[in-house]
Amino acid sequence: MNRQQALGGVELDNSYARLPGQFHQRTGPAPVAAPRLIRLNHDLARSLGIEPETLERPAGVEWLAGNRPAVGSEPLAMAYAGHQFGNWVPQLGDGRALLLGEVFDRDGVRRDLQLKGSGPTRFSRGGDGRASIGPVVREYIASEAMAALGIPTTRALAALATGEKVLRRDGPEPGGILCRVARSHVRVGTFEYFGRNGDPDSVRTLADYVIDRHHPDLAGQAGRYAALFERVVGATAALVARWMPVGFIHGVMNTDNTSIVGETIDYGPFGFIDAFDPATVYSSIDRGGRYAWNQQPKVAHWNLARLGECLLPLLDESAEAALERANAILETFPRAFETRFHAQLCAKIGIDTPREGDVDLAFDLLGHMHEGRADLTLTFRRLSALPGDDDRADGPLRELFDQPSAVDGWLARWRRRLQGETRGDFDRQAAMQRVNPAFVLRNHLAQWAADAAVEHLDFAPMHRLVDVLARPFDDQPEHADLARPPEPEERVLETFCGT
Ligand code: AMP
Ligand code: MG
Repeated sequence: MNRQQALGGVELDNSYARLPGQFHQRTGPAPVAAPRLIRLNHDLARSLGIEPETLERPAGVEWLAGNRPAVGSEPLAMAYAGHQFGNWVPQLGDGRALLLGEVFDRDGVRRDLQLKGSGPTRFSRGGDGRASIGPVVREYIASEAMAALGIPTTRALAALATGEKVLRRDGPEPGGILCRVARSHVRVGTFEYFGRNGDPDSVRTLADYVIDRHHPDLAGQAGRYAALFERVVGATAALVARWMPVGFIHGVMNTDNTSIVGETIDYGPFGFIDAFDPATVYSSIDRGGRYAWNQQPKVAHWNLARLGECLLPLLDESAEAALERANAILETFPRAFETRFHAQLCAKIGIDTPREGDVDLAFDLLGHMHEGRADLTLTFRRLSALPGDDDRADGPLRELFDQPSAVDGWLARWRRRLQGETRGDFDRQAAMQRVNPAFVLRNHLAQWAADAAVEHLDFAPMHRLVDVLARPFDDQPEHADLARPPEPEERVLETFCGT
């Protein structure tokens, strides 16, 4: 082993490179002119067994920029396809990303290291294979903020400026690279690449790979492919049920952006709702509202049906029996989603022992918020501070609604309901504050950080947001300006595919 090149003392493996040639293109990153480390995620590096200090040295930065290979790295671009806005695209693939290899984290879990913005590949389809610093900054902040909220997500190990320019919609912008960490970069679209392109043998190879890596307890079991499908359905339902309570809208839930392990992946035109409206859409390309906040469970279910189609030949020799099996598994999705989503809504209004009517109570609050254009995050956060038997402190919550008196009836009902709970105010408030964040990555904040990076190579807003959003459930009064909703002139109503 060439010790100088080992990444923080860690050698990479690459199990995906051992799959047959149709799964990937083996190719290296294109070097960049003057890489500079913008931010390194020290905690994440340590959790991967990597010494953060070694990544901060010139050799480490060169490594993160793709200018220098790490020991064991067999970089490759993964092949995948997908349904984009419902339309079948037979080939997508990593057009601006490379899987460098895998490391084992502290828990012994194999985690992918990927460079995003590392140069063109066979899958670039005319794109430059690069990333602007703006989307790199947005993804870094967003994925770390989601992780701090306890929501399954890919992670950001490092953000770099390349010292080169990329040409984008509004002209030249500074280039960036994100080093992303994921339990897997296999997507529903990876299965579709083979399943819909007439290569069922490769679907089996891929399913076996996913089972061996992520569900080793199923390896060799009869019925393992159905069990795999069940787990993907369950993990995806659980994921979407975590997005919705914090007002997260993925924005581009194409099948190629749907992870096989139920992690949030590909932060492009995502957004967090400010004033609550269930039909909220931010993505500039989502004209029909296909990926609106309240459409996400339906779309996730649709994406899983596409996965089910690919798995059919593995489920049963009889086509009819296979279809029946796949449908039976798919049908578990709505309930799996709802059970989790509803449990979280109850927790958000401080109910410890849910009973009939509680879910309606929570939905009624959402209804009032919609009508009164109340801020989603602040409503739940301020509700968390209220006593169960005294309405004198209701002011800060009431003032979030266009018509403050419109929520009074609901608050009275809520207080009557709380009388049926055994938990005292103090415990209830503490529990509510653990599920109702004070801080989320509001769109205007993400935009602020991206703009500062693109326009002035100023990363102070990014650093501040990453630090504050690492503790989303703490009030941090010194950062109150990051908790407030946007002023009308600050509102960002449109988000863009990050590239
Ligand atoms: P995404 O928006 O991340 O879901 O990407 C959709 C597809 O476009 C993927 O196949 C990407 O690899 C590809 N893509 C996005 N941006 C670029 C780029 N700058 N150069 C090459 N391919 C890209
Ligand atoms: Mg994508």
